[in-house]
Amino acid sequence: MAPKQDYIKKMELRKQRKIDAGVVSERFPRISNMIIHMTYFHDAENSVLMERTVNIFPTSTADFNMECMIRGCDNGGFNLNPLISTLIKQNKKLAKGSMKCKGKLENHSSTHANISYEINIKYNKQSSI
Ligand SMILES: [Zn+2]
Repeated sequence: MAPKQDYIKKMELRKQRKIDAGVVSERFPRISNMIIHMTYFHDAENSVLMERTVNIFPTSTADFNMECMIRGCDNGGFNLNPLISTLIKQNKKLAKGSMKCKGKLENHSSTHANISYEINIKYNKQSSI
């Protein structure tokens, strides 16, 4: 496939995934706001690649699959979806941890990228269900 077509296909897949995921207010109605802070590391001497903070609102897409920032990484990324679902189920407000990218990248070791994350969740006060 030509690179451009490949790119368009990827964008369409991403769009579809967002539609499938729905919005936060539907999937997680108890969330009033959530902050995901991530530090991206890569396999290099100066290992911090970037820092990123994502603010999640009830109107945001309920898809917390973060992309791998390394160019050419195939099928990689950091899927925070299972973790966030679990946190919400357990009424947890804070989570910290790290995750490795499992994507494949030519000429790179399997540890080409990882993140450390901190997730802060705020719940709606009125819902004491
Ligand atoms: Zn990757």
